[in-house]
Amino acid sequence: MPTTCALCRRSIPDERIDDPQVIQEHHLRPERRAESPTVDLCRPCHRQIHALFTNEELREEYDTVDALRDADRLRDYLAWIRTTEKLDIQIETSDHVRERR
Ligand SMILES: [Zn+2]
Ligand SMILES: [Zn+2]
Repeated sequence: MPTTCALCRRSIPDERIDDPQVIQEHHLRPERRAESPTVDLCRPCHRQIHALFTNEELREEYDTVDALRDADRLRDYLAWIRTTEKLDIQIETSDHVRERR
């Protein structure tokens, strides 16, 4: 059964999941991991989310997949990632997130 990324909705075929890092579990409420709902994301989506949003923003504004999918900051990324089969991309942490680490 292929795994579907909850964010970009790309379907990742089984033969590409030999690398266990390709699908990652994202905790929708990062500061309460134990009780947080989780979603399966492809590696680029997961890394992109954490590069663009602080844990505080994730907790307060983006704690559902729908909210993430509608986020302005993700729009260009999502439009692009859906056009490729890449599972490895260059990600730069935004200044916005870096300043708050
Ligand atoms: Zn994805
Ligand atoms: Zn995460």
